[in-house]
Order: sequence, then C-alpha cells, then structure tokens
Amino acid sequence: MVDFNRPPFVGKELDYIKEAVDNKKLCGDGMFTKKCSAWMEEHFHSRHVLLTTSCTHALEMAAYLAGIGPGDEVIMPSYTFVSTADAFVLRGAKIVFVDIRPDTMNIDEDKIEAAITDKTKAIVPVHYAGVACEMDKIMELADKYHLKVIEDAAQGVNAYYKGKALGTIGDFGCFSFHETKNYTMGEGGALLFQEDVYLEPAEILREKGTNRSKFFRGQVDKYTWMNYGSSYLPSDMNAAYLYAQLEEHEKIDEKRMQVYSYYDEMLKPLAQKGLIEQPYVPESAVHNAHMYYIKVKNIGIRTSLIQYMKEHEIMCVFHYIPLHSSPAGLTFGRFSGEDRYTTKESERLVRLPMFYSLAEEEMERVVQCLLSFTYYEN
Ligand SMILES: *Cc1c(COP(=O)(O)O)cnc(C)c1O
Repeated sequence: MVDFNRPPFVGKELDYIKEAVDNKKLCGDGMFTKKCSAWMEEHFHSRHVLLTTSCTHALEMAAYLAGIGPGDEVIMPSYTFVSTADAFVLRGAKIVFVDIRPDTMNIDEDKIEAAITDKTKAIVPVHYAGVACEMDKIMELADKYHLKVIEDAAQGVNAYYKGKALGTIGDFGCFSFHETKNYTMGEGGALLFQEDVYLEPAEILREKGTNRSKFFRGQVDKYTWMNYGSSYLPSDMNAAYLYAQLEEHEKIDEKRMQVYSYYDEMLKPLAQKGLIEQPYVPESAVHNAHMYYIKVKNIGIRTSLIQYMKEHEIMCVFHYIPLHSSPAGLTFGRFSGEDRYTTKESERLVRLPMFYSLAEEEMERVVQCLLSFTYYEN
C-alpha cells in the first residue's frame, strides 16, 4: 500500500532523544529546544524564533501579541486549515474570508482591500503548499491601513518569497512541525517575529504568564505571575527529534523535490490533453515541495479518482472544505465579495502521496495509476 504520508526519519533522531534523556532535562527550553531556535534564527534570518507545541499555538500566541480582541476583524482565505481561524476566534475576533487565486490557491491579494473596514486589525496570508503569497502587495496594504500581518507558514518552512524566508516577512510567522509537514517533531511549531518589543510578552505568554524565561537567564532572582499566560513549550525530547531533521534538512529537501519533479514531468501529458491542471509557482516564489496536487474537472471526477487510486492501494486525499461553509465558519465569519474560486477550485483538488521515504517504485505506481484512469472527462 502506498500511504498518503509517512513521517520522516533521517537518522540521528533516536540518538538525540537519548541525549535529551541523559541530560535529565525533558521539559521545555532545554538544549535541543535552544539548538532548534538558534538554527532557525540563523538559517531563516529571523531575529526571534520560539519553539511551540504546535502551529495552532503559535497562531494563538500571534493573535494575542498582535492585540486582537472582541469585535476586531481578521482577513484570511477560507481555503485553509481550521487553526488559521480558530486562533483568532478564541480572542473574540470576527473572520472575514477573501477569495483565493485559482492558480496558487492562495488569498487573492487584489481582493483584500475591498474587505478592509474600520474594524480590521490583521491580515493572515496562508502560504498554501509552501508557495508564497504576494507579500509585497499584502505588506503595502498593511502599511496603508495600519494592520498586522500574521503569516500562516505551517506549510512554508524553508520556502522563500523574493529571497526572504516565509514566516519572516510579516509581523509574525507561524511554522508547523506536525508529522505531515516537511520537518517534524510529531506535534510542534514555532513563532517567528522580528521586533524585540514582542520578546518579553511572548516569553511570558508561553511560560504560563510568568517571567520564568528571565529567571532562567539570571535576569531576575525569582519568577512570578506577570500577565496572561498558557503553556506553549514543547518537551526537549520532541525538539531533539526536530533538531536531527533540521541538521539534515537537505536530505529531506532533495527527496521531496525529486518526487515533485517526477510527478510534474510524468503527468504533463495529462495536462497537455487538458484533462488535469498542475500546480503553478510564481516567479517570486521558491517553494519547498511540501505538496504535490493535481486538479481535475469537478468533484464527481475527483471522487472517482480517489476511489480508483484506493482500489489500487494508493492513498490520495483532498484538502480543506472551505471554512466559510462550515458550522463554525457561518457563526464566526463572513465572506467578503464573491466566492468565485474558493469552493470551485477546492472541489477539484487531489493531493498525491509525498513524503521522505516514498520509494521509487511507489512513485512509479502512483503515476501509472493516474495515467491509466480513464474518467477524467465525464
Ligand atoms: C498544518 C497546518 C496548521 C496547523 O499546524 P499544527 O502544528 O498541527 O497546529 C495550520 N495551518 C496550516 C495551513 C496547516 O497546513
């Protein structure tokens, strides 16, 4: 059976976990947590990177630090994972959904301005499939209307926009290290920001509302309850697993690129016949091969294709059901303008198996199976 995903394991993960155990420091902010943060700060040129328990939690931190409160409006695409919206809804915000571009599946930067009201506080671009949103336009709008920008870069770790790492362009960036993402620690994430003013409140929020981070650095002689807080620190054992992957990220990158290029090349004949559409990467973006998807003509064909693949023991999945049509989306959000592409394009998309340990023979089977499917047109 060809799974849809298998979590990556590159080699030193268990050695590093053993080292964390031998260090007798399993809790947060141990040696491996610090190594991961420092590695990302250097590698992605980010002034601050705090490891978190998930990207969802990084988004929650960003929503709080950006000062989002009841009645505020936050702009985002409807074609995204629930956490993008959840984090802001928890703070009492109203979600304003904007249509996507059919080519990248990212928020349509030209439709954002019409969604801005005097209640708007933030824009949340989601870099779908690790392909960058049009950040110049988004930052320009944020500047003009004094809005915060929080990048959901869950899928965009080690992907770039005009030379800048995704997650480092807006006020905040959020990464995911869930087992379905390029690099993993099982469950985990990171919060990135460039302004020093956010460091102290971020550390306090992440450490149960206390100044324990300062205490550990010897900057205060006892720690105490300072402000709002929760617990967003991952265990150092999880960070140990992640550090092994970051160190050898090139192995993972190379393999994912190889799978991406193979699918892209081999499926060209189907695209040339007009039976499917392949992903598009704008010139401004360098992607990270997070995902390979194809788009078929409609939802009926997609259902048959996923079924056909499953009969041949290949697991393909579709992605988000647009949030604006979900029960919570109807309660907490509204769609700005026309849903021209969000629903239509989301119904056509199929994701193919894409992971580090995907064997050559498995890749070939996926392609052969897609080529042998005869109902691309009904
Ligand atoms: C995976 C994902 C998340 C959530 O990440 P977790 O680490 O599981 O919380 C959020 N947004 C997007 C776009 C994602 O793909």
